[in-house]
Amino acid sequence: MKVYVTRQIPESGLKMLRDRGLSVTMSEKDGVLSKTELVNALKEDAYDAILCLLTDTIDEEVLAAAPQVKIIANYAVGTNNLDVKAVTARGIQIANTPDVLTETVAEHTFALILAMTSRIGEADRFTRAGKFVGWAPMLFLGTDLAGKTLGVLGAGRIGSRVAYHAHNGFDMDVIYYDVHQNELFEKDYHATYFETVDDVLKHADVVTIHVPLLDSTKHLINTRRLGMMKESGYLVNTSRGPVVDEVALVDALRAKIIRGAALDVFENEPALTAGLAELENVVLTPHIASATEETRTKMAEMAALNIIAALEGKIPPNLVKT
Ligand code: NAD
Repeated sequence: MKVYVTRQIPESGLKMLRDRGLSVTMSEKDGVLSKTELVNALKEDAYDAILCLLTDTIDEEVLAAAPQVKIIANYAVGTNNLDVKAVTARGIQIANTPDVLTETVAEHTFALILAMTSRIGEADRFTRAGKFVGWAPMLFLGTDLAGKTLGVLGAGRIGSRVAYHAHNGFDMDVIYYDVHQNELFEKDYHATYFETVDDVLKHADVVTIHVPLLDSTKHLINTRRLGMMKESGYLVNTSRGPVVDEVALVDALRAKIIRGAALDVFENEPALTAGLAELENVVLTPHIASATEETRTKMAEMAALNIIAALEGKIPPNLVKT
């Protein structure tokens, strides 16, 4: 059986596929395949599985080029790059890579929170520019986290792990909103449930977003909601870019409606909304929240296990229920 891999991923996952006797073809392009390139690549052989990334749009046109495919193994936990309806209509299974990246994304989220509140990015640029002329009592005053309130939007796997670090490591109070109230989350992190996103935004000092990208979460954070946050408040987004209206965020940061923000994901990535890169009060990372050697290797192995199971007629361990 044949597997098409849309971009170079860690070798261990590819080896697992080959060791099971599967033939693996990997895109040789050093970058994201365009739709046409992907369709043409799939037409070159009769593939049974596709291992794709969150940067690949898998829709009806792509599926039509690979009519034998039995599983789409997404090398990500989010599945917003797939036209789930089109995939399931063809009886194709979908698998993702949850859990394994939870801690890594939570740690990156905390790195961003600390970078915002301790003003690491600004201070780094300042120091490199040779502007440091000596200790000064008012230089780069930031914000303490201890005793402050973390507002979690989306108390799932990653949101829970961020709450864990906030509660246990930084002595923060945790409040949250999720479409499902989560009693374990409340018990484990002494967290308080708020019935609306708005309530969380009004009360939190740092708001962290961990919802999936859905129609209902697109622009969850918009001009109106940014206006509800504390003037001293910070926003961090490591979920998906379109959850935040980036034009509204640039305006809010410019007008000091909120104190700072940090983004690992962007509304039109890899493009940045005009004005974002010029702002000092925002920290930007290029969608690397899960990018550690350990995690990316485990993700490759998980994707391989999902494909192996599906092609052996078993239920993939990380089957996405549709
Ligand atoms: P999860 O499914 O465990 O948690 C998501 C939570 O959001 C769930 O508790 C769900 O009930 C809640 N939710 C859904 N709709 C909501 C809404 N409208 N309002 C409030 N809550 C809502 O997922 P996870 O593993 O924690 O991952 C969360 C997201 O993080 C993923 O969907 C993915 O898009 C993103 N992610 C980003 C990176 C990165 O590299 N930056 C890496 C991994 C995951």
